[in-house]
Amino acid sequence: MAILKILTEEEANDILRKTSKPVTEITPKIETLLNDMKDTLIKAGGVGLAAVQVGILRRIYIIDAGVEEDKHEIIEFINPEIIAAEGTQEDVEGCLSVPGRRGMVKRPMKVRAKFQDRNGEWYEIEAEELLARCIMHETDHLDGKLYVDIMSRELFDEDDGEETEE
Ligand code: ZN
Repeated sequence: MAILKILTEEEANDILRKTSKPVTEITPKIETLLNDMKDTLIKAGGVGLAAVQVGILRRIYIIDAGVEEDKHEIIEFINPEIIAAEGTQEDVEGCLSVPGRRGMVKRPMKVRAKFQDRNGEWYEIEAEELLARCIMHETDHLDGKLYVDIMSRELFDEDDGEETEE
């Protein structure tokens, strides 16, 4: 187990802008990566973390689905794909790779995604609200996109009463 260094836009924009490659085989190295990403995400107090954010260009991310209830419930997404999306929501987003900033972002209200777990099994998940937002945000990371590209407006300290969620 180890805490990994989270790359920021400022220091490593070129890496964060790359498209991640599919995982073809879940090796012990990938399992170690997943374990280390979990420790790193919890330490950082974030909701989601993509492998590219720790410098590994593979289609992997993890989301802490328990964060709203103040417990950790990590879901590991390997080779995730969005298969359906509907509705819209607009809320605050932040990103561990864009520290100190936050902005309003429009996302689908509901998404359906498929993904593999670390045993290679395929699953489908139906998510809404915060989880749907996280899945979209993290999937964007795998394609080299950051929320700051699509935010409708940036929030500053004077915009109080709103909380950073990711
Ligand atoms: Zn992010």
